[in-house]
Amino acid sequence: MSDQVDHKERYISGAPACPGIVIGNASLYQRVRPHISDTQIADDEVEDHIHKFYEALDIAEDELEILLKNTDMEDLSDLIQMQIAILKDPELHDRVEQEISANNKPVDSAVESIFRNYLQVIRENHGETFQNKSVDISDIRDRLLQIIHNKGDEIKEGTILVAQEMSPREIISFSSRDIKGLITDRGGATSHAAIIARSMNIPTVVGAKRATEIINSDDEVVLDGRNGEVIVYPKNETRQKYESLIEQQSKRQADFESLCKKPNKTSDGKPFTLQANIEFAEELSIANKYQAQGVGLLRTESIYLSRKHFQNIDHQVAFYTSILELTAPHQVTIRLFDVGGDKFFGDEEKEQNPFLGWRGIRMLLEQPELLKNQLRAIFKTSGSFMGRIRILVPMVSAMDEIRKLKNIIGEIQEELISEGINIDKNIPLGLMVEVPSVALKANLFARHADFLSIGTNDLTQYVLAVDRGNERISNLYDQRHPAIWWLIKEVAEAGERNKIPVSVCGELASDPIAASCLMGLGIDTLSMNAVVLPSVKQMLRSYSHAEMQQLAKKVLQAETLDDIDNLFSNWETKG
Ligand code: PEP
Ligand code: MG
Repeated sequence: MSDQVDHKERYISGAPACPGIVIGNASLYQRVRPHISDTQIADDEVEDHIHKFYEALDIAEDELEILLKNTDMEDLSDLIQMQIAILKDPELHDRVEQEISANNKPVDSAVESIFRNYLQVIRENHGETFQNKSVDISDIRDRLLQIIHNKGDEIKEGTILVAQEMSPREIISFSSRDIKGLITDRGGATSHAAIIARSMNIPTVVGAKRATEIINSDDEVVLDGRNGEVIVYPKNETRQKYESLIEQQSKRQADFESLCKKPNKTSDGKPFTLQANIEFAEELSIANKYQAQGVGLLRTESIYLSRKHFQNIDHQVAFYTSILELTAPHQVTIRLFDVGGDKFFGDEEKEQNPFLGWRGIRMLLEQPELLKNQLRAIFKTSGSFMGRIRILVPMVSAMDEIRKLKNIIGEIQEELISEGINIDKNIPLGLMVEVPSVALKANLFARHADFLSIGTNDLTQYVLAVDRGNERISNLYDQRHPAIWWLIKEVAEAGERNKIPVSVCGELASDPIAASCLMGLGIDTLSMNAVVLPSVKQMLRSYSHAEMQQLAKKVLQAETLDDIDNLFSNWETKG
């Protein structure tokens, strides 16, 4: 541990990627590439260097096989299998051998130069998808070079890993060394590495910009994965504060495990349904652990954006199938691509007001092939999972959009049936309530939908005229604003009048007290990030439905956010 006297406590802010608090010593991980020899070897050393190459291949392959055995994540298995295939490629073997024997290159230099060519060939064959592939190929080259140089990574057991960035392979391999937490300079909460860390429940902060410059190996660090905070050289009082939080956390964790087995009922027996919002299959391990009753929101856009091949129908079918298999027997609500706003393909013209622009259903109706392919994939998948899929439409603002969409759905159903494909003809069609026009005319929209799902993230930005991503006005963005509660009440009533289910899938549902208030307004299905499922469940089980209705009544009478804050702070969790 570093000398506490010499150092001042320091805070670094990043993005929370997996909740949990840990205190420990840092291990700085630098993906150093060993220095490559530039000398030539003698003829009698050739055999020895070729032997070293095959030895390194065997070690790297064994490591990958172990990882493969220990992962049930489909994306990651694909990646590891691709890396194993590279190691087994006879052309790679021949060329490295050739480079060593014909050019008298030492083994590291031969590997380095053959991989350089390899990357070049891949770039020529794969064009735009090269970026992702190149990361994984460079990763395996670096591992080979580390083995050849007999370089360990100096990561100590039980430490907090600090790195510029991490590949999924690295996270999985370090997790076997009891890594306590992860801090990276780069990456966002939805990066693949962050999702994998989350699925392994390793407290993680990403995008902590200069962490690797500020933190040295062995420094004492507090990592708070709930809010993305990292504290280096904590003062005694800071450490004590976090130690007691950790104690509470582990008590809560033990409570959560027994809580998950209990029924989803309020204290007076009213049932409720808690579902997960997910983007990647990897997130299902935590959702299943916390007994999510299906997926209330499957966001499809980031997978679409990160993998151009997702435009291929078979890939989409495989993705939806994997989600449905992992969530049986529950429902999965697939949201149509919500591209636009802040999520772009990259080749569109930049808009002045992207959040008020060409996004969600507006964009899909003007890109019929994109929409039709997604619908084809969903209906093709549905035949094997009758009654389990629901379709959710993002960014609806006008009735006309629904009419047009229903015509296209009819066309796709007929097309697939005429091809003899087995489909679920009764997939419920739901609308996101996230644009004020839909909330204000909820009664009308409810007549033309099978269910409504309130997206409070966008509804708040549109109702309050506050860009949800603009830090300058973030103090004005609060989903608990009185106007939002009033609109939610209207939507809940419209659902009841038209006998269709209404749920909430925006962030408001992840706040346990807000969730109680939503129940009080008659919304008993909530969908949220899986990590908060236990705390919401605990709160909903602690109160009676009548008490929640009382809370909702008071919230609806509140005039200001402060009034709502006061009501919420008087609402405690009962044991
Ligand atoms: C919402 O707007 O509340 C929502 C759930 O959708 P997203 O956050 O993906 O826009
Ligand atoms: Mg939205």
